[in-house]
Amino acid sequence: MPADFKAQLVACFGQPVAENPTGAMQEAAFRALGLNWRYLTVEVPPEKLGDAILGARAFGMRGLNLTIPHKVAVIGHLDRIAPDAALIGAVNTVRREGDRLIGENTDGKGFLRALRSRAGFEPRGKRVVVLGAGGAARAIAAELALAGVADLLVVNRSLRRGQEMVADLAAKTGARIRFEAWPAAFVVPRDADLLVNATSIGLYPDVGSMPPVDLTGARPGMLVSDVVFNPPETLFLGRARERGLPVLDGLAMLVDQGVIGFELWTGWRAPAAVMAEALRAALGLA
Ligand code: NDP
Repeated sequence: MPADFKAQLVACFGQPVAENPTGAMQEAAFRALGLNWRYLTVEVPPEKLGDAILGARAFGMRGLNLTIPHKVAVIGHLDRIAPDAALIGAVNTVRREGDRLIGENTDGKGFLRALRSRAGFEPRGKRVVVLGAGGAARAIAAELALAGVADLLVVNRSLRRGQEMVADLAAKTGARIRFEAWPAAFVVPRDADLLVNATSIGLYPDVGSMPPVDLTGARPGMLVSDVVFNPPETLFLGRARERGLPVLDGLAMLVDQGVIGFELWTGWRAPAAVMAEALRAALGLA
């Protein structure tokens, strides 16, 4: 067989990106499968995003991740947006279809994948509470609505942001979605099956904070999950554990959105365990 030294390229564009651990996870997956692929973590300022996408096209890059501040702005530079990414209004992953760049959003999909495969939780017909109305919350709420939850309650500090998100998702999906402003201590409804912290409360270095939530009313068996992955064991999940509630951490969501990205780009089945281990090592958790 003739030698083939050509590498296939994937990149993450963001600013800042220096502390983004995704590359370690994807590179470990490429190595594990013996693929001559590279994942580049590239700092791209907002005003250079258009040039960076042209560069990605010129290099024939196989895919991209987008992070802060490019998730919305990138939409104008792509050829097509997947329907759920359009519903979410943000793109965190780009895949290639021939020469066309297609925008996807794997944040909510990664969350659902982790729910199903790691917690054995099928969202269809369930009653869910999502704390937060930012980018992560919107991606998760949109995918939960599309997955057929029976009832979705969004609780957010900023009234306007929460109300607008709920009105928009309800109108576009037809799902039953309600909004509640965050009181001093939100009391979890007795009939909730799943509670998701999709805010950034508890994120390093603010590890001593947790969302103001009263878990005393939660029914036994209610699943508690957190999108914060640094640290994976947040104070919030610790409190839920103390009450005997099952938990799902943000690391699972991060690995599973990476798994989905890997499979979209390469067409190979992702080595999820290798990716999880590499991510833990990159975050100094191994
Ligand atoms: P945004 O800035 O878009 O949204 C932040 C959300 O947190 C808003 O709802 C905001 O409320 C709320 N919030 C922040 N501080 C407080 C507070 N003190 N009290 C009440 N509410 C608060 O951030 P993202 O949605 O992009 O990210 C949220 C978290 O999700 C981050 O920790 C991020 O690292 C994590 N994440 C994890 C992923 C994973 O794969 N595990 C993937 C993507 C994100 P308000 O509207 O009132 O300001």
